[in-house]
Amino acid sequence: MNDDIVEFVREVSAQNPFSCYQCGKCTAGCPVAAEMDAPPNRVLRMLQFNDPDLMTIASPWECVTCVVCTVRCPRNIDIAKIMEAIRQYRQRGREDYVHPNAVDVADLPQIAMVSAFRKLGEW
Ligand code: SF4
Ligand code: SF4
Repeated sequence: MNDDIVEFVREVSAQNPFSCYQCGKCTAGCPVAAEMDAPPNRVLRMLQFNDPDLMTIASPWECVTCVVCTVRCPRNIDIAKIMEAIRQYRQRGREDYVHPNAVDVADLPQIAMVSAFRKLGEW
């Protein structure tokens, strides 16, 4: 498996972040964008520039895989898969990985909570 985050994301998600032209439709529809330190379109831009901050931003953990961004993207980029690939890359080999706390997302919009329940059914 590739050690470069951009190539890892491309390989695991089967998506091409370089086809993003920054229209912002993903972020405009994302139910948790206002809570993110880097909303979805920004994450795509960071991948295009191999930004080292991809290893520290909280956005991939705040994404609830609702796929609104994915269905809105005019470039047919599955951004939800990209978020998942970033999570996988960041978790690799880490014993200090801390799962996002449910209490932290308690104030999010209802649709975000529903999506989170779907994904993390053990809550
Ligand atoms: S909707 Fe697609 S093309 Fe537009 S900013 Fe988001 S990822 Fe890029
Ligand atoms: S899948 Fe994640 S990034 Fe995309 S709209 Fe939903 S919460 Fe936002």
